Amino acid sequence: MTSLSDLPLRANLVGKQPYGAPQDAVPVSLNVNENTHPLPDEVVADIAASLAAAVRGVNRYPDREFGELRAALAGYLGHGLQPEQLWAANGSNEVLQQILQAFGGPGRSLLSFTPSYSMYPLLASGTDTAWIDVPRPADYALTPELVTAALAEHRPDVVILCGPNNPTGTPLDREVILAAYDAFDGILIVDEAYQEFDAERESAVTLLPGRHRLLVSRTMSKAFAFAGVRLGYLAADPAIVDALRLVRLPYHLSALTQAAATAALRHSGAMLRAVADIRDQRDRLAAVLTGLGYTVHESGANFILVGGFSDPGATFEALRARGILIRNLSIPGHLRITAGTAAETDAVIAAITELGPGGATA
Ligand SMILES: *Cc1c(COP(=O)(O)O)cnc(C)c1O
Repeated sequence: MTSLSDLPLRANLVGKQPYGAPQDAVPVSLNVNENTHPLPDEVVADIAASLAAAVRGVNRYPDREFGELRAALAGYLGHGLQPEQLWAANGSNEVLQQILQAFGGPGRSLLSFTPSYSMYPLLASGTDTAWIDVPRPADYALTPELVTAALAEHRPDVVILCGPNNPTGTPLDREVILAAYDAFDGILIVDEAYQEFDAERESAVTLLPGRHRLLVSRTMSKAFAFAGVRLGYLAADPAIVDALRLVRLPYHLSALTQAAATAALRHSGAMLRAVADIRDQRDRLAAVLTGLGYTVHESGANFILVGGFSDPGATFEALRARGILIRNLSIPGHLRITAGTAAETDAVIAAITELGPGGATA
């Protein structure tokens, strides 16, 4: 037996912690922004039939270019997107990693506005890309002025704008995206992991024509209720897709993944049926917590960031002891709660109400 500190690890990984949201088997899991509504039965049956057919062919490698799935993803996004503009991998985390392998790396930098998705700095260190972290203002909202000034100051190679932003929920306006694109000459990624939950704003895929450095990253893990399958995707100029082909592992998307995702996309209406209810639960949770004296930040996603906890760590543990898992992201006074089913929302409301003002546990 040896330990990590005895190994000749790459310098930029020394002292790093792996991604590690708890995976407890509790009745109410509202900590990683999954869609907690069950899949419709008719979709389960069609996916199972598609998988059974695909299993017969697994003696062969899968379609390396996953043409059928790319056509299905292009059809799902609409706006005239063509299959050659689509790319996919095992979760949008893998898509983001491939982008950094192609456009980041030693001597290059990735910039984002924090607090944001905790994987960005980990993906940077994994690809030996320098990480530049620009703090958001108190309301977490980005403006064209703020973004333009940050890009002029730091001149990054790659920028990620997350909209709606995880973990704050903050929506992302298109004038911010346009200002960022014009403020530097590198790769601009808009991470739209939660886009389907934002009823107010159009996807940034509508901005793609004429902007070959704009990449829109999406996932089937959240609104699409498909986190366990691992399917993230990207819409961009076909030349960007050619660049990602240089770094992807051959046959990175298994035949089973391709079959399951293609089948699910045939039922996108049914797969997204819970989205409106999740939004309603989010708004109900926000209204109740506001009434209890907490500060709830504006959210365009399926979760809310809530401030006003006197000891977030203690509240997190008190809820965990009641079988409810939420997320403590070490933002002072704050916890993040995913919107679930009506019953899950009732449970988290009852538990926080019971804890008393400020989530006091004493
Ligand atoms: C959940 C999430 C992702 C990615 O998830 P995958 O399951 O890897 O597709 C990407 N970005 C943000 C901001 C997320 O919250």
